[in-house]
Amino acid sequence: MHLDAEHISQLIALCRAEIDRNCDRLSVLDSAIGDGDHGANMRRGLEAVFAERESIAALPLPAALERIGLVLVMNIGGAAGPLYGTLLMELGRGLTPDADATGFAATLESAIAAVARRGRSGPGDKTLLDVLYPVQAEMRRHAAPETIAACARSAARSTGPMQARRGRAAFLGARSIGHEDPGASSCALLAAAICGYFAEHRVS
Ligand code: ADP
Ligand code: MG
Repeated sequence: MHLDAEHISQLIALCRAEIDRNCDRLSVLDSAIGDGDHGANMRRGLEAVFAERESIAALPLPAALERIGLVLVMNIGGAAGPLYGTLLMELGRGLTPDADATGFAATLESAIAAVARRGRSGPGDKTLLDVLYPVQAEMRRHAAPETIAACARSAARSTGPMQARRGRAAFLGARSIGHEDPGASSCALLAAAICGYFAEHRVS
C-alpha cells in the first residue's frame, strides 16, 4: 500500500466531500429505522478529520489511520463513532509500513473482527459489517478497485431486506425490513470513493 502524504490528504478530502454530498440521504435512511442523525454524525466526524488533514497526512500510513480512528471516535458520536473508530485504529495498529495488498487485507480482517466484538454483531445483523465483510473478501482475492466498489454498493443495498438485530433499528423488529441500513450505506459510500481514487491514481 504505497500512499504518500499527498494521497492521504486527497483521500481525506474525498471522503469528507462524499459524506457531505450524501449527508441528507444518510439521515433520511436513519430516520426510517433509527433517530435520523447518521448523516450529521458522519459529517461531524469527517469534518474533524479534514480539519487535521495536513498533520495526519504527514504521518506514516499506519499512524495516520490510527489518528483518523481516534478523531472519528471523538467526533462522530452515536453508535457508529466507536465502530468506525475501532476499524481505523485497529487497521493503523496492525498495519506494517511496508504492507502489500495481501498484508492490508489480512490486517483489515482483524480490524473488522474488532468492530464485530465491539458491536457484539456479525454477518446479517443489518449493520456496516454487512458491507465490510464482502469488501474484505474481495480485497483478499485481489479484485480490481471497480469490482470492490460495486461489491460495496450492492452489499449496502442488500441490507434492505434484512431484519436488524443490533443498534437502534433492532428495536423495530420486523419493521426494520425494507430499509437500507444507514451505517452500511455510509460505509459503502466511503469504500467506493476510496476505490475510485485507487483506480484513478493507480495506487496499489
Ligand atoms: P445511533 O444509532 O447511535 O444514532 P448512528 O445513527 O450514527 O448512531 O449509526 C447507526 C449505524 O451504526 C447503524 O446503521 C449500524 O450500521 C451501525 N450500528 C449500530 N449498532 C451497531 C452494532 N451493535 N454493531 C455494528 N454496527 C452497529
Ligand atoms: Mg442514528
